[in-house]
Amino acid sequence: MMPSLKLRTKLALFYAALFAILLASAGITVYRIMALRLTAAADDNLVDHGAGLWGYIQFHAGKPVLTYDTSNHQIAYFVRDATRYYQLYDAASGELLLESTDSSLMHLALPVSEVGRRVGRPGIDVIAVEGVALRLRSALYQANGHFYLLRVGVSVEEDLVDLAELKRVLFLLLPVMTLVGVVGAWWMAGKVLRPLQELQNEASAISITQLHRRLPHRGTRDELDALAATFNQVFTLLEDAVRRMKQFSAYMSHELRTPLTVLRGEAEIALMRPGPPKDWRGLLTSQLEEFDKLDRVIGRFLLLARAEAGQIEFEMVEFDLCALAAGLGKEMIPVAMSRGISLKVACGGEARLVADRGWIERVILNLLDNAIKFTAGGGQVHIVARSAGDRAMVEVSDTGSGIAEAELPHIFDCFYRAHDSRPTRPGGAGLGLALTKWIVEKHGGVIQVDSRVGAGSVFTITLPLAPPDSSESAATASSLSIAD
Ligand code: ADP
Repeated sequence: MMPSLKLRTKLALFYAALFAILLASAGITVYRIMALRLTAAADDNLVDHGAGLWGYIQFHAGKPVLTYDTSNHQIAYFVRDATRYYQLYDAASGELLLESTDSSLMHLALPVSEVGRRVGRPGIDVIAVEGVALRLRSALYQANGHFYLLRVGVSVEEDLVDLAELKRVLFLLLPVMTLVGVVGAWWMAGKVLRPLQELQNEASAISITQLHRRLPHRGTRDELDALAATFNQVFTLLEDAVRRMKQFSAYMSHELRTPLTVLRGEAEIALMRPGPPKDWRGLLTSQLEEFDKLDRVIGRFLLLARAEAGQIEFEMVEFDLCALAAGLGKEMIPVAMSRGISLKVACGGEARLVADRGWIERVILNLLDNAIKFTAGGGQVHIVARSAGDRAMVEVSDTGSGIAEAELPHIFDCFYRAHDSRPTRPGGAGLGLALTKWIVEKHGGVIQVDSRVGAGSVFTITLPLAPPDSSESAATASSLSIAD
């Protein structure tokens, strides 16, 4: 397996490779442009030489003679330069008519067959003779009804030397510049990654016991600051979750310990007395009540865990929410009365839903149960159900203790119990409203609370009404598996 490279090494290698490719491309481009320009300059030169030289060729008795003013230095210089490798042929016969000394010495003259070929297709030859690179241009001219092929040449030796020099410089520069690129990229990658390294060090210092710590903000508003902010949000969520877990453990142990202590106490007292207890029925009834409490707490907890894991199935049926709320309200009147509370039920009209009747029943009972639980004797609890537009609505209000404003955002959290309800109030472990909210939302509804300490609370749930012809949708929706 390839050893994994560090990010810094990867970045440095990547930029070095990129740098080398760019440099090589730039070098090749420069070299090619230079070569093209030199060739174009040599060709321009050849065209000038050919045209100029033809002007100095005159014909005497059909014979070509190079005639120019030798006292004019400019002309003399031009002719000497242009005639260095020149030849003049009779285009028809291919006969060589004129030739320079260098051309003759270097045997540049073309055989007759080649002259014919050049006449058919004049152009440029590139040849190397005795280590000299020459560029020769053939062009066709006419005089006195005859055609002549004039071939002039220049040495491109200097151009080739220049190009070779350029190539050498580029080959030397490439590794040197690439090395500079590697060092630069390594330095830059280190600089860029340093804050990341610092972030990692800070993050690794945050343990489960140090969740209050946060990653520093550098104030640069770049991606790393955004990353730190995201991590900080996650830490806040984690801190909250851990806080709630701890709270839950404390509540759970309290809820479990109380009935267990009662059970143990009763059993110990019964064992201390000789013979069977006189009131064994009373003892067993009291023990059963404690078992029930334990069962309720554990049952709710497991239910919520299943709900959060998406393992609960809803049996969707059509029913009238008003009738259901009215029935449940009336069932709870004796419970309320036993605590000196008056419970009024106002559920007129009809509000048909397609929902899981059992779960909706649970929602209403939870709200009624809380309203009664948190209202002192002499208080009042009201339950109202009706339809409003395309929604059905149930409102459970009480004149009880109310909930402090700071606690309101948390009462739907799992295991949350408002401050003053913990030590004195019996019953739940702060799971009822979490479960209630989950059920309502899974049915496409909303739960709201309005509360004032000392004045009481109003819990309102709204659920979508069944569509006009809902018998069909109830059938298809029945036994709907709800997953988060
Ligand atoms: P529990 O099962 O402990 O009652 P819930 O989740 O049902 O938990 O309620 C969470 C907390 O919200 C309660 O502990 C209580 O402090 C507060 N609460 C709920 N309903 C009412 C109400 N009608 N009046 C006052 N406080 C309430």
